Amino acid sequence: MTIVSRRVFMMKTVAGAAALSSMHTLQAAGNKLDPNDSYAKSMGFVTDASVIDPKANRNWRKFKTGSACSKCQLWDGSETGSKAEYAACSFFGDQWTPRGGWCKNFKVVKS
Ligand code: SF4
Repeated sequence: MTIVSRRVFMMKTVAGAAALSSMHTLQAAGNKLDPNDSYAKSMGFVTDASVIDPKANRNWRKFKTGSACSKCQLWDGSETGSKAEYAACSFFGDQWTPRGGWCKNFKVVKS
């Protein structure tokens, strides 16, 4: 009886851990900022700052070559030099933006 109970406990523990892990993955993926979101668009958000031509869109006029989410004060990890591909942006309610993204609310990290 005790052995069966341990087996059941272990199976439930492993199943629970797997479920939590997959929920975390789904939540992370679900938190990525959609560049087609109307507010993101109004802020000139792009997932790849290398496509920005400051003359092509009035929301991109403030863009300076080399600026990107990974160098923005509002990007979680910019202060620590995180190498993560995505991190939370506090300006967009902690939705995740890519390190190479950009929007017109860019705030350069103070050095
Ligand atoms: S506020 Fe900063 S981190 Fe957020 S999208 Fe704009 S440039 Fe990227």
